[in-house]
Amino acid sequence: MQCLECGSVKIRPSRLRLSDMPRLMLLRMPVRCHTCLSRTYTPLVLALRMRQARRAHS
Ligand SMILES: [Zn+2]
Repeated sequence: MQCLECGSVKIRPSRLRLSDMPRLMLLRMPVRCHTCLSRTYTPLVLALRMRQARRAHS
């Protein structure tokens, strides 16, 4: 997946905040772009896939 703002692929799951709860209810996870530092939301399925990919590389 890519950042919607700048197209970078350097995206990491972001820390959860209380204000994320409404979106978590909609199965969306906060992610942070490390290039432009924008914080957006991605479907939970994609976020989980991203975590698995990180594990496979480390
Ligand atoms: Zn970006």
